Amino acid sequence: MKVLVAEKCGFCPGVRNAINLAQKTLATEHKVYSLGHIIHNEDVVRQLSDAGLQPVDSIDSIESGTVLIRSHGATRDEFEKINKKGLKIVDATCVLVRRVQKIAQLLNEEGYKVVMIGDANHPEVKAVVGYAQDVAVVGTDSDLDNISNKKKLGVICQTTQSPDHFAQMIAAIAKRGFTEMKIINTLCRETMERQQAAVKLCRQVDIMFVLGGLHSANTRKLAELCKKHNPQTYHLQNWAEFDKTCLSGKTTAGVTAGASTPDEVIEEFVRNLVQWPPTPANI
Ligand code: SF4
Repeated sequence: MKVLVAEKCGFCPGVRNAINLAQKTLATEHKVYSLGHIIHNEDVVRQLSDAGLQPVDSIDSIESGTVLIRSHGATRDEFEKINKKGLKIVDATCVLVRRVQKIAQLLNEEGYKVVMIGDANHPEVKAVVGYAQDVAVVGTDSDLDNISNKKKLGVICQTTQSPDHFAQMIAAIAKRGFTEMKIINTLCRETMERQQAAVKLCRQVDIMFVLGGLHSANTRKLAELCKKHNPQTYHLQNWAEFDKTCLSGKTTAGVTAGASTPDEVIEEFVRNLVQWPPTPANI
């Protein structure tokens, strides 16, 4: 099989930094907790858990020790709770997520109703919402029904949304007759570059693979985009888990990976794919 790998894919700087900080902290501290899983990748979560990192759903369950804040960030309330309990904080919030939090806070202080385009259940969005009092999270344009048209809006976006979706939502908001719209582009350049590289590649191949956690928002978005341009797109976690019958009759495959997919997973996948179909020489 001829295999082409996207020009940009895999770990982003925010995720790499969070993993490095977790490893450094685990080397020096006992009792290290993370609020939720540090990244959406089962293998990495398992490795860090073996090294002692304990994911928890709530700060209430932590008695003492160190809390690692993942790249998605945490809400203000969570930071306050951690400080009140006298726990140590290691903050791995990505600088780009921190920027969105600050922008939400500033827009709020300037009197704008903050509209965040994104998924209300995503931890990054939940964390940003905690930084401004008047925030509406908008997934589709029908979510705008509850916002008064007289309001002046400060519009921001979840970092991992696609530029197309951001643009569509801005167009939908513009048609609603709000008195003022201040739009700040908070998309992550790393994510955009991965999306552009994936779309470019999937148009050139018979079959496209998007590697990464099934719960990872940026990986799912990558798969969604590729599927639009190449219906033969598969979102997988690793080589071991997929049904190889889809490779039948294909000669060129493309591979990309989400921001939380380790290099080893990509390398192993490509190595096996290049040798497909297996012959006595490469079994
Ligand atoms: S995807 Fe972008 S915003 Fe999210 S952690 Fe990575 S670099 Fe930061």
